[in-house]
Amino acid sequence: MKNILINKTNHVIFDEFNAKYSEIIVSKIPLLSQFPIYAINIEQSEHLNEMVLDSICDAFACFISHEPESTFAEIVINETVCSKLQLSNEEKCAAISHEIGHILQFFNKGQQIEKAQEEINCDILACCIMGESSAMLSLLSKLEVSGMYSTQQNLLMIARQTAIQNQE
Ligand SMILES: [Zn+2]
Repeated sequence: MKNILINKTNHVIFDEFNAKYSEIIVSKIPLLSQFPIYAINIEQSEHLNEMVLDSICDAFACFISHEPESTFAEIVINETVCSKLQLSNEEKCAAISHEIGHILQFFNKGQQIEKAQEEINCDILACCIMGESSAMLSLLSKLEVSGMYSTQQNLLMIARQTAIQNQE
């Protein structure tokens, strides 16, 4: 079975993610196996300034290079934020699945959607990949109570939790 992520870090969470979710991602979203998706540390990233999808103060972010000769994506782990938030392995997997959602949405650019809706779509895709929503819900609630985000961002965290609960 092909691993969905190429782990360039020494974080075993990406190996765990591969073992648990590669098969379902490759079978449900074959597009994502057509280019490499690297898992890297912040220190390894050469694209920090261009990462606009999720702020880099987040635990995870992603970057997509869509050039004719080289299409690739990166999922970046911010270990400092992960430990500050005391994320469990399941919550980290939910965050990685959410970033996979952003990579997919990048290729669905035909449909212009609002940032808030994109976040919700990525959360719902993540729950689909994981086959359950509790990890995503607890991740969002940790982010919300962390004190790291603005009131407006916290309102979005709440809206995202409600959207997931309405899907159940
Ligand atoms: Zn996001």
